[in-house]
Amino acid sequence: MNLIISFFVVVFGLAFGSFFNVCIYRLPKKESIVFPNSHCPSCNRKIKTIHNIPIFSYIWLKGQCSYCGTKIHWHYFLVELITPLLFLLFYLQFGWSWLFLKYLIFVSFAIIIFFIDTFSKIIPDVLSLPLIFLGITLSFIPDSDVSWLSSLLGAFFGFIVFLITAYLFQIATHKESLGGGDIKLIAAVGSFIGILGTIFTVIFGSLFALILLPAIGHDRRKEFPFGPFLVMGALSYILFGHSIFQYYINYFSYF
Ligand SMILES: [Zn+2]
Repeated sequence: MNLIISFFVVVFGLAFGSFFNVCIYRLPKKESIVFPNSHCPSCNRKIKTIHNIPIFSYIWLKGQCSYCGTKIHWHYFLVELITPLLFLLFYLQFGWSWLFLKYLIFVSFAIIIFFIDTFSKIIPDVLSLPLIFLGITLSFIPDSDVSWLSSLLGAFFGFIVFLITAYLFQIATHKESLGGGDIKLIAAVGSFIGILGTIFTVIFGSLFALILLPAIGHDRRKEFPFGPFLVMGALSYILFGHSIFQYYINYFSYF
């Protein structure tokens, strides 16, 4: 770990967190994300640069628009906070390596998908489809942590398992459970972390949903977005599960 690099990773994360907020707000509305002139969603006035500093502005303005006093949603603050934190965690995990870059790409998409699915209950194809393509492409780089075969198998396995589950659930209950967005997301996860990671993600994502949904008081009869739980499962695998699995594989290879 290098302190100077860590510092720049955090600054980078702060800047990207702000951009992710723009994506989270605009992508579900199909608005352009290229012109990042932030404006208040309520009074529509342009936000001053001085009021657009990640984390600090939110605290300074007490989470309100400086013109009209409208409350700014807490997710803006949360995204600005967790993006640099996750960037730093990934740097500590992978060091200054191309694997770090690979997982920075993944976590960036994952954060945006997490919040869009939470609030809008959709996972835009403009996010999931390029992610599948990137995951498979990056697996061809020599010394990748996930082989191209594992990447393809992960994407395919995730896709098929979710497709069958969604189909069976629909026959049994006449309700839609896993949407098309979830099916493409698990394929994207599989392409990045391989077949082992996909199995881990499905198991742990479901566990997170089972534990957290009652904890936040979710009505059992209502639908819930599954994407955020898949993201949590996948990130847990990359940060922790990876080393646990690797430990067991090394251990059992002695036999
Ligand atoms: Zn305003």
